[in-house]
Amino acid sequence: MSSFAAADFVRVEDELGAHNYHPLDVVLTKGEGVWVTDVDGNRYLDCLAAYSAVNQGHSHPKIRAAMIEQAQKITLTSRAFRNDQLAHFYSELAALTGSHKILPMNSGAEAVETAIKAVRKWGYEVKGVPEGQAEIIVCADNFHGRTLGIVGFSSDPDSRGGFGPFAPGFVMVPFGDLKAFEAAITPQTVAMLVEPIQGEAGVILPPPGYFAAVRRICTERNIVLILDEIQTGLGRTGKLLAEAHEGIEADVTLIGKALSGGFYPVSAVLSNTEVLGVLQPGQHGSTFGGNPLACAIARAALRVLVEEGMVENAAKMGAYFLEGLRNLRSNIVREARGRGLMLAVELHAEAGGARGFVETLAGRGILAKDTHGHTIRFSPPLVITRDEVDWALERIGAVVK
Ligand SMILES: *Cc1c(COP(=O)(O)O)cnc(C)c1O
Repeated sequence: MSSFAAADFVRVEDELGAHNYHPLDVVLTKGEGVWVTDVDGNRYLDCLAAYSAVNQGHSHPKIRAAMIEQAQKITLTSRAFRNDQLAHFYSELAALTGSHKILPMNSGAEAVETAIKAVRKWGYEVKGVPEGQAEIIVCADNFHGRTLGIVGFSSDPDSRGGFGPFAPGFVMVPFGDLKAFEAAITPQTVAMLVEPIQGEAGVILPPPGYFAAVRRICTERNIVLILDEIQTGLGRTGKLLAEAHEGIEADVTLIGKALSGGFYPVSAVLSNTEVLGVLQPGQHGSTFGGNPLACAIARAALRVLVEEGMVENAAKMGAYFLEGLRNLRSNIVREARGRGLMLAVELHAEAGGARGFVETLAGRGILAKDTHGHTIRFSPPLVITRDEVDWALERIGAVVK
C-alpha cells in the first residue's frame, strides 16, 4: 500500500466506498495544530477543523499523551462495571459547565437522540402530557445529525428524501421567528430543540434578543430548552458555550465534536437533575458511552481548551478574521458573518457556486468547506495565530478578486 499515489487513494475510495460524501481530492496523512499535510507533502491551513471537532488543533500533544497513557491501562469496561475515569470526567465537565447531570454517549447524533428520549419521558412523567402525545418544536434548516429519528425532522430534501417513514411528534418553525415559536406551542409541547447558531445552514445567527425571549417563554410554559451546542460549544464562538452570548442557560445542552479534540467520538447530554433524572436502569445506554479511554481523552481535551486560553483566542482571532473577511474588496462577496471562529462568506448567486472557490483555495493551501451552493465556511482550530489569519486572508482575498 505504501506505493499508493494520491490518485490511487481516490480511485479505491470511489470504487469501494459508498458515495455519501463528495470530498476534495486532498489525501491527508499528517496534522499538527492548524496545519495538515497531504501524501505529496503539500501543506494546508485547515479552515474546517473537522466540522469543529478539532478545536484544540490537530494531534494536540497533551491529548495524545492522555490517550496513549489510558490505552495502556484499560479502554472499555462497559457500564455493567465502573471505571476510574468516568467520575473524574463528570466532576470536571460539571465544574466547567455548571451542569448537575451528565449522560455520556459517542456521536453527536446519539446525544440528540438521547435528549429527545429524555424530554419525552420527562413530558409524560413530570409535565403530565398524555402518553404518546409529546411534541418537540424544532427549527427549519436545522442540522442535528443523520440518524432516522433526526432526519425525520430535517427540512433539507437531501437529508430526508427517500428515508421515510419518519417518527411523528415534531413541529417545525422558522429559526429566529419568535411569533411562530409561540404559535406552535400546545399543552403537549415538551421541548424546543435548537442550535444557538445554525452551522450547517451556513452560519446563520439569531436576531438579537431571540434566545432571551425563547428562554423566558420556555420557563413560563414549562418547556425544556435544548441547545444543540455540538458545533457551537467548547469555545468555537469565543465563549465556552454559545448560550453565553445570549445571556441564557439551556435546560439541556448537547456537546460532542471538540469534546475529544478530534481523537475519538465522545458526546454528552448535560442537564439539570429533573430531565435526565427520569432515566432508570435499563432504559437507555451505549456499549462505548462513558468508556475510560473516551473519558481520559475528553478530560485532556477540556483541560487544554481552558489552560491554553483557546476560548479567548477564538474570540480575539475570530473578530480579527471576520474584520478581514469584511474588508476583502471583492464584488462577488455578498456578506461575511459569524461569531468567534465560526465564520462564513456568502457569495453572490452570479459568482457561480462556492465549490469552485473551495477547490481554488485548496490549490493555494487553504482547506475550507462550501455549503448550500454559495457559502464558504471558515472555522479553523482555535489555536490559530494572527500571522496565520493574515496568511489565510491574503489567499482568500486573491481567490475572490
Ligand atoms: C455535527 C453535528 C451533529 C451531529 O454530530 P455527529 O457526531 O456527526 O453525529 C449534531 N448537531 C450539530 C449542530 C452538529 O454540528
